[in-house]
Amino acid sequence: MNKDFDLSLGAGYKSKAQKVRVMSEAWVENNIVCPACGSALQKVKNNSPVKDFHCAQCPEQFELKSSGKKWGRKIMAGAYAAMRKRLQSPQPPNFFFLHYKETAAGCRVENFFCLPKQFFTANIIEKRCSLRATARRARWVGCKILVDKLPESGKIFYMRDNICAPDADVRRNFAKIRFLNAQKTEAKSWLIDVMKQIELLAQRRFSLTEFYAKAEADLQKKHPDNNNVKAKIRQQLQTLRDQGYLSFKGGGIYELC
Ligand SMILES: [Zn+2]
Repeated sequence: MNKDFDLSLGAGYKSKAQKVRVMSEAWVENNIVCPACGSALQKVKNNSPVKDFHCAQCPEQFELKSSGKKWGRKIMAGAYAAMRKRLQSPQPPNFFFLHYKETAAGCRVENFFCLPKQFFTANIIEKRCSLRATARRARWVGCKILVDKLPESGKIFYMRDNICAPDADVRRNFAKIRFLNAQKTEAKSWLIDVMKQIELLAQRRFSLTEFYAKAEADLQKKHPDNNNVKAKIRQQLQTLRDQGYLSFKGGGIYELC
């Protein structure tokens, strides 16, 4: 993988945003393959409202967000109204997040991950305040993606802190969470919340009792209308087991696969 942007591509553009857009899109086209099938990605015509890339071989679509700043807990993600529209679309895109670093010699990609569409839910989008009436884009309302709410399995890293992941790992990680695509919104939200809580346990093997102790109160808070959180937790753990995400070791012990 070549980590550097081709600076010559930005030469004909005035604004920095345009230069970065052109260079980062070319970088993706030349260096990133589809996480679902490993095929090349093709750029969609400019100003398409939905996506930036599509796979040459399968139906996956991707939208690219690039940033010169390393992400913290939130990533700036453009206009709120457009994001809501994508959320409600029958074919929402997967997202690519690219972080580049400016060096004396040019721009170098440091981090790159895919947020698969099944993790793209309303509760990870934060609406920002509208811009002042005097701003260039007056009243424009932006949004942020709350990356800290995603479980690690919802971030498929191709490159992390300058270290590239093998293509086979990217595809395996993408395939592992595919089952969420078939879930309805509410079921998906519960599964993602439980996956995040399993991660917070920071143990490969855990008991049901440990899980209740750590996660029950948080999950009740997130789902205040549910009157039997313990039963709901068990149901999610069973689904995760049936999908090969966890294995059940007997005696109330689960282990991450
Ligand atoms: Zn594909």
